[in-house]
Amino acid sequence: MKWDVVVVGAGFAGIVAAERFSSRGKKVLLVEERPHVGGNSYDYYDSQGILVHLYGPHIFHTKDKGVWDYLSRFTSWRLYSHRVQAYIEGKKVPLPFNLNTLEALFPSSFAATLGNKLVSEFGYGARVPVLEMLENKDKDIRFLANYVYENVFLNYSIKQWGLKPEELDPAVTARVPVLVGRDDRYFQDPYQGIPASGYTRMFENMLKNPNISIMLNTDYKNMITTLDFERMVYTGPIDYFFDYKFGVLPYRSMRFDFETLGTDRFQDVAVVNYPNDYEFTRITEFKHLTGQKHEGTTILKEFPEDYEMHKNVPCYPVHTSKNLKTYAKYKKEAESLDNVIFLGRLAEYRYYNMDEVVEKAMFSCEID
Ligand code: FAD
Ligand code: UDP
Repeated sequence: MKWDVVVVGAGFAGIVAAERFSSRGKKVLLVEERPHVGGNSYDYYDSQGILVHLYGPHIFHTKDKGVWDYLSRFTSWRLYSHRVQAYIEGKKVPLPFNLNTLEALFPSSFAATLGNKLVSEFGYGARVPVLEMLENKDKDIRFLANYVYENVFLNYSIKQWGLKPEELDPAVTARVPVLVGRDDRYFQDPYQGIPASGYTRMFENMLKNPNISIMLNTDYKNMITTLDFERMVYTGPIDYFFDYKFGVLPYRSMRFDFETLGTDRFQDVAVVNYPNDYEFTRITEFKHLTGQKHEGTTILKEFPEDYEMHKNVPCYPVHTSKNLKTYAKYKKEAESLDNVIFLGRLAEYRYYNMDEVVEKAMFSCEID
């Protein structure tokens, strides 16, 4: 059989690619090495009957109405605004760090002075990366920036990445800027939610087209030479594709420890970050995300660790300048291949959110 498209990897990138090509009548083979589709966005019901995200909490959020409308063809949504707290100096305070966080941590008159300075320096509603704030000329603003750096970012970064914030691309910490405002939501995007029946159900709906065939538990390298195909969409690690010819691109992985508890509620919000305490970075309580009614609850603790092939899964590309330079060599090599589209977090070595992957995949697969 001749395939129009072989898609390697059944995460968000590969599934959107398979759906897009199959919708135009292309015969698609989707090859996935894990025993399930969905990649890191996979969810399932645990032994207690609670819907959990096997690879960490996934909240869909986007500014892009086109992406939202596209996915809405395959799922309805539980509209949900994500809230995160950070455990700092014995208190659970709102994150991103904002004017409410300031008031929760400092005496009120000092918080008011700092808050007024932030508003006059950056404007109400501004989102200021902490590394940028550290460079400010005002000593009170620098004091606050140092406080946020020390208490929110430094130790979390060492746990999460094994690196200090300034050793990473500034875009990493800029994902969680200081917010000069009182919006306690983690994301400010206009569209936010969780697929009403879960991500996996949504993926199954996206893969219903009879033009799509799926092979699970299969590393594409073990069978690709037996296939006849026109084009490949590759969403696995780009260094693996090229047999590590320019060296290994490091990824950070995670040990995910789930605990099921007999109580209805464990914590007040879906995610509590622990920058300075414990070995784990954060605790997620899934029922906040899904709205599921259940007498018990399941929580997840995330313990960051290095990625090792076949031992754990690649979660995050590690964006140091050295690694980004190595990636640039792979990217150049990838661009010389006409019939392979490199897509997604691993193949583009990008710290993509789900919506960005969907947008890129929709755009990249609009070809015949
Ligand atoms: P993946 O989901 O990694 O899929 C790649 C697939 O390729 C995998 O299934 C893999 O098994 C398969 N594969 C790899 N190599 C091979 C091979 N050799 N042969 C066959 N198959 C192969 N994004 C958000 O927008 N919101 C969030 O709240 C959010 N939370 C996150 C929390 C965590 C802990 C993590 C790790 C990520 C989070 N993300 C979140 C990001 C989100 O997971 C990614 O944007 C998305 O999963 C990327 O999809 P992908 O298809 O590029 O990669
Ligand atoms: N970060 C941090 N402390 C926090 C939250 C985030 O230092 O309490 C930094 C850390 O480097 C993290 C990055 O900001 O990896 C991005 O955070 P985000 O919550 O977006 O991480 P993700 O949900 O992608 O794991």
